[in-house]
Amino acid sequence: MKISGNRMMSMLKSLNFERLSTFEGERRGAAIIEENIRAIGIEPVVETFKAPHYEIKKVKFEVLTPKYKEYTVSGYGFSGNAAKDGVEADCIYIESMDEVLLTKASGTIAILNGGIGDETFKKLMEAGVVGVVCPSGTYFDKTSETDLEERMLRPRHTANGVLPAVCMRIKDLVALVNSKPQKVRLTLEQEEGEADSQNVIAEIKGTEMPDEVIVYTAHYDSVVFSHGMFDNGSGTVMIMEMLRYFAANPPKRTVRFIWCGSEERGLLGSKAYVAAHEDLLEKIRLCVNIDMVGTALGHDEWRVTGEEAIVAAIRYMYKTIGYPMTVRQDIYSSDSIPFADKGIPGINVIRTCPQGGSQIHCRRDIIDIMSAEALENTCSFLAQLSDKLVNAAIFPIDRKIPDNIVEKVDRYLLKKKQ
Ligand SMILES: [Zn+2]
Repeated sequence: MKISGNRMMSMLKSLNFERLSTFEGERRGAAIIEENIRAIGIEPVVETFKAPHYEIKKVKFEVLTPKYKEYTVSGYGFSGNAAKDGVEADCIYIESMDEVLLTKASGTIAILNGGIGDETFKKLMEAGVVGVVCPSGTYFDKTSETDLEERMLRPRHTANGVLPAVCMRIKDLVALVNSKPQKVRLTLEQEEGEADSQNVIAEIKGTEMPDEVIVYTAHYDSVVFSHGMFDNGSGTVMIMEMLRYFAANPPKRTVRFIWCGSEERGLLGSKAYVAAHEDLLEKIRLCVNIDMVGTALGHDEWRVTGEEAIVAAIRYMYKTIGYPMTVRQDIYSSDSIPFADKGIPGINVIRTCPQGGSQIHCRRDIIDIMSAEALENTCSFLAQLSDKLVNAAIFPIDRKIPDNIVEKVDRYLLKKKQ
């Protein structure tokens, strides 16, 4: 079977819509993946798990004095309902998190210079701030072309309580700071809870060593406003092509394909998979994770979450075949992390697009920058590499993670302080 860029591109086109975690778009994405698996002659398995789900009901930011003005804002998900009926307070601009300004911040609604990090949030709570306004985008954005960001707080932010928070376009924020606001009112009402997200799974049993498993992962969800063509419609269609490849070329070891939901919410799909299948993990020898490939401009720069020996093996392969790419040892913020956390080495298949050539996590992650040829080239090399690994007489990669990578994974998962 020949790997086909055009086939991948046509599936990518079918996924050209927003696929936000727990929302209808993500479910629609999962349904398209299921259809494609069935078309190959394999019955998919869908595993649902819970993911955070919020809906902003009301959000408003008004300057009351010296002069009334309302600004357009978006509410932070999971920043609570403390401002449901509107919180009125003095407004302060906190240009940095140092003590000088924080001591003046008690009881105020604070304008920040950046987003809410873990430390920032803790300091603001301690300072007694009652509401937060964060900047969104750049000063030079055109309002008609750029979405006001929608962000959410994660459990690590809210461990010690919540503060109502909103985002405002930087241009508005400059005007707001310049207008020297005194009293302001922040209103934020939202529904907070959980809803279903899902992983879609397909498997081909190995003909000779069915108990040794190689998993292929790719997340198919996108963020709000984004159609996620590069991130990660591209990986979604590429592991489908790999499934098709192994359906035509029965593998000696078992290959399992996991289309992960809710990666953009914090790797929730892969975390859920790993948590639900403790019993199967021992058999998994390697995770091949594909997240962002197939741009017309770019260069394959893979990352190995495992031993240097794997890096050397891939390097040997691409040099032998004559495929232009680089590879190095590092972690990658994607679905290979929960597997690495369980001692399963990972190969992250990634294409780096030159700056300005792509924009992810916004409306600009579009299909126009994608290329059937680039998808085909990467996938063809991956198929050749996979062939060697999946059908090897003895699996050449040890199921272990070196200390330096364990350290990075632990830090990433916040098991350790930076
Ligand atoms: Zn991604």
